[in-house]
Amino acid sequence: MKNKAITRALCLFLIILSLFAFAPRSAAYQPAYSNVIVGLFYGANALPGANLQNVTGCGAGYEFGMLDSGRQFVPIGASTTETKISMLRDRNMVYKDGQYVAGTDGSVVVGCFHIQLNTYYSTYAEAEAQAQLYSGGFVKYSFGKYYVCVGEYLSQAEANNALVSRGFVDASVTSGTTDTVVVVVTGTDRILLEYENGSGSGLVVRPISHDGTKPQTWFRGFRYYGMFQYIRVGGGDLTVLNIVDIEDYVKGVIPYEMANSWPIEALKAQAVCARTYVAAFRGKHGIFDVCNTEDCQVYRGTGSANAVTDCAVDETAGQYMMYNGSLAIAYYSSSNGGASENSENVWPNSVPYLRGKIDPYEAAVADLIPNYYWTVTYTREEITQRLRTRGYNCGTIVSMAVTETTPTGNVYKITLKDENGRTFTFTKGENIRFLLGVRSIRFTINDFTGDEVVYVDEGGTLGSLIARAYAIGKDLIASILGRNDVYAINGKGEKVIVLKEDNDEPSDLFVIKGSGYGHNVGMSQWGAYSMALKYNMTYRDILTFYFTGVTIE
Ligand SMILES: [Zn+2]
Repeated sequence: MKNKAITRALCLFLIILSLFAFAPRSAAYQPAYSNVIVGLFYGANALPGANLQNVTGCGAGYEFGMLDSGRQFVPIGASTTETKISMLRDRNMVYKDGQYVAGTDGSVVVGCFHIQLNTYYSTYAEAEAQAQLYSGGFVKYSFGKYYVCVGEYLSQAEANNALVSRGFVDASVTSGTTDTVVVVVTGTDRILLEYENGSGSGLVVRPISHDGTKPQTWFRGFRYYGMFQYIRVGGGDLTVLNIVDIEDYVKGVIPYEMANSWPIEALKAQAVCARTYVAAFRGKHGIFDVCNTEDCQVYRGTGSANAVTDCAVDETAGQYMMYNGSLAIAYYSSSNGGASENSENVWPNSVPYLRGKIDPYEAAVADLIPNYYWTVTYTREEITQRLRTRGYNCGTIVSMAVTETTPTGNVYKITLKDENGRTFTFTKGENIRFLLGVRSIRFTINDFTGDEVVYVDEGGTLGSLIARAYAIGKDLIASILGRNDVYAINGKGEKVIVLKEDNDEPSDLFVIKGSGYGHNVGMSQWGAYSMALKYNMTYRDILTFYFTGVTIE
């Protein structure tokens, strides 16, 4: 008895000890769901029909079901061993050039009218056993009930005639609802299943593994992990979604947001950014989390991933970037041109971890970055037109100048003046970047100081840039680089300004010279590349440099 009590006490002691041992460790961030719902085709790009194909073609096939509120797959009992299936909206469809489109004119047509038996069943298996008794029989799942349907006809009348001629009693002609999704064997009119379960409850198709490995599915030229969902938003064509484990999603983003040949620490930084971004933007697009374009993050499945990019995801698995206990949204762009920027100087809002910094790393690989230094030139008429197409009722623009820069030297404000003396002022990076159509907010306007001087030809025209310029004085020869308001005499004996710092002067031509590409907020991908390659820094070094005060958990 006594021994048992001691054992019990010891156990209790160990349990309490273990609680204390583990309790102080801060728990890693747990995402709301372990998977991500990615929009592949949606909105105006929704599809009348969508073909899936097993990558291996080994005949493992697919299961059909729906998602529960925890985004887990709920089977409806239906499956197929077909490796190529297509999901269609419920209307008369014709198979043409490898796709199903609306219509009736072709050799393979799927009609949307069916004979439906009045009896229904509570399981797929029972209904399927009955459906197999009829030529052209299939099961229709409708709000938890399983019906037997027969045939596919192009019109109500045609289906009615068939109902009579085939001698059906206790049956009627049906067509689907605005939510119905039809599954056929690709390239045929053979219906495998019809599914309707109310708006928003799309059919989910889960590929079955043929050998225990994670199955991949071809869809429209790309391979994907995970499941697919088909929802007829507003009763229209199919919105096609990919439901994929969050780590597999990140594996499908990294090689498209960064080159798959980049150093692994840069790829790991990108992986943490991509994972954090998607966790922070659940439901960004309403019925799905993120789209597959630059609007969110480019995602194209498994096609461009390699061992290194997958490794970058695996080695950071489950890690998120956090600030004060919340997800720190990881904004990034290709390059910042020399300095990142405070979020409020670019976008409307101030975010504490999105602070501008001089970036010494990116510059170290400037010669490797395509179009790192760029020039955009506008005539008076061109810049005037840019303003007018954006709704500004301005006269001809005669001057344009950077009138405020941030502490890191990025452009914060520009001021334009028209021929009538009216001024137009624009602030914040993205407003300015889009107005001017330039690659970054690190630029100057008509600033010819520095290493470059403009050569003036005999006609007085500003010519090409030259690297060195000197003035010959009475006693000395001095460089005129960096001086204000340097003039030259042209061939006609007229004074022509060569160098000027007061950009408010009227000008015929606006020369915008800058560096970098992107919004300048957060991580520079080329900076990350440089830190990993040239400075042997880790992904944690990279992220904590570009995101002030964050932790990687
Ligand atoms: Zn998006």
